[in-house]
Amino acid sequence: MWVTASKDFCYDDVVGDVKTGQLFELRGQPNDGGLLKHRLVLPVEPQPDKEALKHYPQCGECGRRFLEPWQRERCGRMHELSAAELRAARREETGKRLDKLRDAGELS
Ligand SMILES: [Zn+2]
Repeated sequence: MWVTASKDFCYDDVVGDVKTGQLFELRGQPNDGGLLKHRLVLPVEPQPDKEALKHYPQCGECGRRFLEPWQRERCGRMHELSAAELRAARREETGKRLDKLRDAGELS
């Protein structure tokens, strides 16, 4: 069954993290009933076939499909954020390396 996530959570080892609005297929996990009951996921109506899926907004970064364009935009922003964070972390790492070299007297 195709469903859409009503919040960010980790579904299983295969699907992994799902984001708000993301379309994915339930894989018959033991807690599928609970997810539906607690409306953590909502059935997609009508159930999409391969062709219909192509019409849902897709994140250009990770390929996830979403119910609404804003959810796709949010996914894109999260990728940008983590890319920026990675860059910041790398800069910090480089800074530390330089400090070490300086401490070691290899750099003046
Ligand atoms: Zn994405």
